[in-house]
Amino acid sequence: MKKQPTRYCHNCPQKKLDKDTVALNLKLLGREIRDFYCLECMAETLEVTVQDLLDKIESYKEGDCELFK
Ligand SMILES: [Zn+2]
Repeated sequence: MKKQPTRYCHNCPQKKLDKDTVALNLKLLGREIRDFYCLECMAETLEVTVQDLLDKIESYKEGDCELFK
């Protein structure tokens, strides 16, 4: 598996992002993005709840999305 650099939330620099969160950033915000966000900040930006995002991660994992492997 390719090693990913450690990423931090653009708004909360002390917050390390796990690989599922990074994958969700790429999935929802686009693969060209340079700024990554934690689930809380993403939820706020997208006007959904953190739980919605967790559900999305689960469904992408069950699906065939290569970002979540
Ligand atoms: Zn954040």
